[in-house]
Amino acid sequence: MELIFDSHAHYDSDDFDDDRHQVLSGLRDRGVGTVLNCGSNLTNSKESITLAIAYDFIYASVGLHPHEADSMSSKLISELEQLAKSNPKVVAIGECGLDYHYDFAPHSIQRDAFKAQLDLAEKLDLPVIIHNREATADTLDLLETYHGQGVVHCFSGSVETMSTMLKKGLYIGFTGIVTFKNARRAVEAVQACPLDRLLVETDAPYMAPEPLRGRRCDSGMLAYTVACIADIKGISPAKLISITAENARRLFKIKQ
Ligand SMILES: [Zn+2]
Repeated sequence: MELIFDSHAHYDSDDFDDDRHQVLSGLRDRGVGTVLNCGSNLTNSKESITLAIAYDFIYASVGLHPHEADSMSSKLISELEQLAKSNPKVVAIGECGLDYHYDFAPHSIQRDAFKAQLDLAEKLDLPVIIHNREATADTLDLLETYHGQGVVHCFSGSVETMSTMLKKGLYIGFTGIVTFKNARRAVEAVQACPLDRLLVETDAPYMAPEPLRGRRCDSGMLAYTVACIADIKGISPAKLISITAENARRLFKIKQ
């Protein structure tokens, strides 16, 4: 039986300090076969690689989240580049992008930090993990000159926005948000998303799906999100698990 590929999680988070190994070593029995642990600053990008070295089913990405965009510098970009080249289990750049909801850094600084990481992803021929919150116009604008691969993570935007992303060849990542009662837009996006571009992700420790909403999220809970998406698509959960795992391996160039 094919196991779930969780394409976006943060097991370096303090939320797992008390039982990280227990959670990670139990995932396989809960149906999870692979996890991509995503960096969001220099420190946790390194931690992400440490996790990928310690666990054969974990892969890593290295990058700078828009919340921390003001720490971007040419030194940081070259450190991220060195990290990306340091281990073959680094399979992506990110998460990076724009977040105009929290607005922790000025927009121009967020844009520069995102652009620098898009350039790095292209240079290293690695896919990019894109975070976009209330910044769709600027995200699309910056993607205009980007010719690499990538995934728009935690998608909950409109079908029109998704179509533009799909035309760029990007994949779309869906989290537990699709299970939420008020998730009309995310459900419409799932309906419209071609199966060969769809990824599933937790964003653990955040975004636990219904009926576990509000709890600390881990990849084992992805079964609820998978069941919900499979139902929307009218296919079996097993089929969805196998398609999304294949998509993730194609995007992140991971051999089975
Ligand atoms: Zn994330």
